[in-house]
Amino acid sequence: MDTTKRFRGITAPLWPIRYKPLPDELLSSWLVRLAHGHGLKVQTFCNLIFGNRLQVWNRDIDRLAPSWLVDTLALHTGTSLAAAYGTTLKVYDGILFHNPRPSGHLNWILSLKIYHRIREGFGQQFCPLCLAGDATPYFRKAWRLSLSTTCPWHRCMLRDRCHACGAAASFFRMDFGIEAGESDDETITVSRCHECTANLAAAPTMAPAVADADALEKLVEMASAVAGRSPPSQRVIDELAVLRHLCALMLSTRHSIALRQHLLAVHSLVDPIEPTAKRIPFESLDLATRHVLLQCGVWMLNDLGSRLGTAVRVGALRYNHLLRDFDGAPDWYRTMVGMAIPHRKGHPSRRLARA
Ligand SMILES: [Zn+2]
Ligand SMILES: [Zn+2]
Repeated sequence: MDTTKRFRGITAPLWPIRYKPLPDELLSSWLVRLAHGHGLKVQTFCNLIFGNRLQVWNRDIDRLAPSWLVDTLALHTGTSLAAAYGTTLKVYDGILFHNPRPSGHLNWILSLKIYHRIREGFGQQFCPLCLAGDATPYFRKAWRLSLSTTCPWHRCMLRDRCHACGAAASFFRMDFGIEAGESDDETITVSRCHECTANLAAAPTMAPAVADADALEKLVEMASAVAGRSPPSQRVIDELAVLRHLCALMLSTRHSIALRQHLLAVHSLVDPIEPTAKRIPFESLDLATRHVLLQCGVWMLNDLGSRLGTAVRVGALRYNHLLRDFDGAPDWYRTMVGMAIPHRKGHPSRRLARA
């Protein structure tokens, strides 16, 4: 089919190819599949639909969920708006973060660090076995979460780069090097490395490193609850907020906070973070580091009152760190913090409020 014919089809109310989003599919993955389904390179497809003015690939469309893009895909594929917006990371508003800003840091959403299409971060994770098992390989929303380090189905570590060349996974770039006419929609899939064309679905898998078996189990449960079809319970949402706060405390560079060192020592683990490193947001840490810190954080959650008490007693943190910079801390957490500080037991809320 030549490009003129394809173009005619694409301006029709319903496109010739009307793929619907697959379960938990990311917007960018859906868009790439639609382009390839029409036998077009992603960039060509986007230029035909959106023109050159609206740039698709120099921004994190999964996070920003631009209405001009989502509404258009919904309209031309006959997909409900709810299902179309369900492909964006906005669905986690109120679950993983609150009142997202268009740019800057967002809790639990991995940073892609996009500079003019070149993704420098390793924020797009994947499970090779999920890709290998897909009739049509596609990328899931859960793989963009800093909370996700393992695949709950295959119980293996996720990957965040190509096993052959080490390039970050950025599936939208995979056909950028292919000349027009050269593309073959049967063979182009999102599971090829954009840099070396290695099949990411064939990447070797690793069993997760276990720092604490119970913590790892609960971590997988929490991540599964977030990725599930129905929204997680308020309890899970609250626990995620506390876990995220503990992760931030573990990364604090304040001299008075040594929570990470304390927790690593408890589990006889080596610090995965360079001692000279500047403070890095949790969402910019690499997969292996997050995997360790998350288990330490969930280990705290599993017996929060007593483990907070111990951490304060050994001087790993002070009581005021536990609520500082933690808007919307759950009531049960506030109560537990009060109880973890024996000499403040009488008036925890009054004293904590003052802190
Ligand atoms: Zn998997
Ligand atoms: Zn590669």
